[in-house]
Amino acid sequence: MSQTPIYTIGYGARTIEAFIAALRAHDIAYLLDVRSKPYSRYKPDFSKQELAAHLETAGIRYVFMGDTLGGQPDDPACYIDGRVDYAKMRQTPAFQTGLERVQKAYSQQLRVALMCAEGKPEACHRTHLIGQALTAVAVPVSHIDENDQLLSQEAVLARLNGGQIGLFAAEEANEGETAVSPPDMPPPPPNFEDDYQSDYSLDGEPPPYDDYPAAGEMMPPSGFAPVKAIAANDLPLTLDAAAALLRDVFGYDGFRPLQAEVIQNVLERQDSLAIMPTGSGKSLCYQIPALLFPGLTVVVSPLISLMEDQVMQLREAGVTAAYLNSSLSYPEYQWTTDQIRQGAVKLLYVAPETLLRPETLALLQQANVACLTIDEAHCISAWGHDFRPEYRQLVAVRRRLPTAVCIAVTATATDRVRQDIKQTLDIPAAGEFIASFDRENLFLEVAAKTDGLRQAGEFLAAHRGEAGIIYCATRKQVDQLTGQLAANGWPALPYHAGLDDAARRDNQKRFILEEGKVMVATIAFGMGINKSNVRFILHYDLPQNLESYYQQIGRAGRDGLRADCLLLFSYADVQTINFFIQQQDPSQQAGARARLEAMLGFVETMVCRRRPLLAYFGETYHQDECDHCDNCQTDQGELADLTLAAQKFLSCVKRTGEFFGMSHVIDVLRGSQSQKVLDRGHDRLSTYNIGSEYSKKEWQFLARQFIQQGLLTQDMEHGSLKLTPQAYAVFKGETVQGLLPAQPPAARPITAQDYDLDLFALLRDRRTALATAANVPPYVIFSDRSLVEMAMYFPQSAAAFGGIYGVGGAKLEKYANEFLPLIQAYCAEKGLGEKGKTAVASSPTPTRPAANGRSRSDEVVDLFNAGHSVPELAAQFGVKERTILGHLWTGVQGKRPLRADNLLELSQLSPADQQRALDAFADLGTDFLRPVFETLGETVSYDELHLLRLVAAAQQTG
Ligand code: ADP
Ligand code: ZN
Repeated sequence: MSQTPIYTIGYGARTIEAFIAALRAHDIAYLLDVRSKPYSRYKPDFSKQELAAHLETAGIRYVFMGDTLGGQPDDPACYIDGRVDYAKMRQTPAFQTGLERVQKAYSQQLRVALMCAEGKPEACHRTHLIGQALTAVAVPVSHIDENDQLLSQEAVLARLNGGQIGLFAAEEANEGETAVSPPDMPPPPPNFEDDYQSDYSLDGEPPPYDDYPAAGEMMPPSGFAPVKAIAANDLPLTLDAAAALLRDVFGYDGFRPLQAEVIQNVLERQDSLAIMPTGSGKSLCYQIPALLFPGLTVVVSPLISLMEDQVMQLREAGVTAAYLNSSLSYPEYQWTTDQIRQGAVKLLYVAPETLLRPETLALLQQANVACLTIDEAHCISAWGHDFRPEYRQLVAVRRRLPTAVCIAVTATATDRVRQDIKQTLDIPAAGEFIASFDRENLFLEVAAKTDGLRQAGEFLAAHRGEAGIIYCATRKQVDQLTGQLAANGWPALPYHAGLDDAARRDNQKRFILEEGKVMVATIAFGMGINKSNVRFILHYDLPQNLESYYQQIGRAGRDGLRADCLLLFSYADVQTINFFIQQQDPSQQAGARARLEAMLGFVETMVCRRRPLLAYFGETYHQDECDHCDNCQTDQGELADLTLAAQKFLSCVKRTGEFFGMSHVIDVLRGSQSQKVLDRGHDRLSTYNIGSEYSKKEWQFLARQFIQQGLLTQDMEHGSLKLTPQAYAVFKGETVQGLLPAQPPAARPITAQDYDLDLFALLRDRRTALATAANVPPYVIFSDRSLVEMAMYFPQSAAAFGGIYGVGGAKLEKYANEFLPLIQAYCAEKGLGEKGKTAVASSPTPTRPAANGRSRSDEVVDLFNAGHSVPELAAQFGVKERTILGHLWTGVQGKRPLRADNLLELSQLSPADQQRALDAFADLGTDFLRPVFETLGETVSYDELHLLRLVAAAQQTG
């Protein structure tokens, strides 16, 4: 019986369809890609992702093996005179590993083809290197040639040598003496290999650049429009000059906390370390000095997507920025280095690996580097959570640029890491600047996860049309939730490491480029995303610790506008995380558990959430209330007396021996017949079946509050509950206050939108059109914050337009003509006039100050009084009916009359019950629901009471 050989094939001149047809013709099941660089500049269909996608459709498995069997080894010892020494290469461990895998495939008789780019087998290392190596270990090789014909190894060699003796034999005869250099192999470009393996970010896979055009050919990277460079070199190195650039180039009115201090220090050429939270404006700390210094500023940044984004934004602002990393094609690389040599680049972003290359170092040594910036500086420390060995070598780079001032910036650094950075880079203590970690514009909220999908839907409804991220703990959860949300019509996209590269990149691109997408993601998503208008973060599952939580919510609201962060919390998640902790190395478990406890402390706190959050990062929050978290906004007026429930629950914990978790205690309280209850004899306890007035979920809601209030502690390992001394005080009659389960923490009222929404929509459309035409993300043109200001202040002249947030000189010139006429026309039509911009508006305060005077609730009341029904309005605004009722209630409290008819239609109660409720409101007033709830024997739901209270109030005012 004949054995299946190992096939080889090259695509050569074939189209992807012809190539797949050839594979099919030979019944290939696995395609092993042995190209060193798995992408083709001229044939995008054959890039790793595209090819993999096509193969998947065709039912063929794709395996990348260029890192082991590729023709261009990394090891310089494998080269002689710039050509590959195949004899040496065959002896490398990497090659041997690759070979073993192919041998294994052969032993399993898999139908495997090794693929390269060259159509003719004799022109490629498939024959010379792999073919020979396989033949030497008695694995038969069959080459599919450019005409889809099969050729043996001998036949291919014969083709090459015009029928002479095979090269293989010649090589064997000279083993170890001569290097065999097949004539058609192009030499690798000197010292310019791909970073493919060393790329950190999931999204950083380089585009094609394998078929090198002739050396010397240059072109700017794609998306690089020529920059009309701003000249700032003649300005003095002062803070005043820096403030002028802040205004003229970046369009901002004032520095944010610490920016001025850091900039001043850098301008004095003192080495500096800036620890500032994400979104606080670290970049300007080196970008502004870069513009003022004569010479070049080099920024080391580990994330390719982030540096490209920054460079694009800088070029939009008129700054000659460029980058060097593995994503550049060779001509782009040539163009960039040429620009640097000419002194035409002010800011150069480089990946650490690229920087460490001898030719980059040589280039920089001649380039008059004024400032060396180390972004994500925590990567330098082995104590950090993100250590990168190349970062350590930056010390040597720094020594080679002795006249350059050094600035290191990062968002996360514990004390130890900070010391390490300072020591490694020799930054004096006086050069250290640490900003507050409080992100004022983030609204923090935690809610018990009762019905995750419904809660997610409600949260999304309050953010319709806005971009946001939903974080899930697992890939499975991501897939499931994306499906469910999409089925409900939400523009949800999945993102996790299990998706193939192409899909992931595509989703990320859509999230960045398109408006209002919802990314459903594992924690794999977010690194290096610089989208400034992420409006919400929903944690569908509990984050493992506060670092992760803080990092993830930090992705929202970078434009300084309000962003909402909601965490859905359930104790089941705690158990899951505990389970994972148990799988960890024992030495790490205690720490992981402590971090989880801190996370729970944040979740369960009843004081301002900023206190435990900032305390975790070593900062004391001095205000009592932030007004931007659920706890600070919860209406304390509706706290109820929970003493009886607390006594029942606590005594049941006591009677069951302080040994069980919440679930079992509730089972006993509710008189469950479960095996566990019966087995333990807990049905004979005095607390058995004394708590049937609350459902299991309601008891959980109550019990969590008891934990939060310190009446109980929960063992983080086993979940068992124990009483604290405070619990005994409750037995003695101390009262317990809290929220009743029927009323989970009130949904935050929707803040009034104080800018003109219609104008905003028009401006946003214009921005999208411009962005699409220029092939850049919309926020590169203007941030949301800029558009909001335009729709708030209605600038009518170029001068006023220049005063808008984010409008610097270059943008004024470029875009005033695009946006101003729109604003003018709109204002003319609506009779609106320009509004003076005050200093308040430029501070990064999260509120949207009242400008045009009409709140959403005014609008809702007007429409309602004009005859629109509640369901109609809910549909129109894309919110729940309850939210509309909330707006109406706000209106009533503002003494606005309300027509009462139609409202009663929404009630499900019998007319008699409705009347009883209305009577109760008449007796007890409409300020509180709780007394009415009790008077009605706790039979009418709070939803109904909200509605009927409105009717009662409308009857009074109307
Ligand atoms: P990070 O600290 O995460 O690197 P960035 O430097 O990207 O933050 O800044 C976040 C956002 O804040 C950017 O859109 C930036 O343009 C904006 N920004 C920075 N400084 C200021 C300022 N002084 N006034 C207004 N906006 C600013
Ligand atoms: Zn608060």
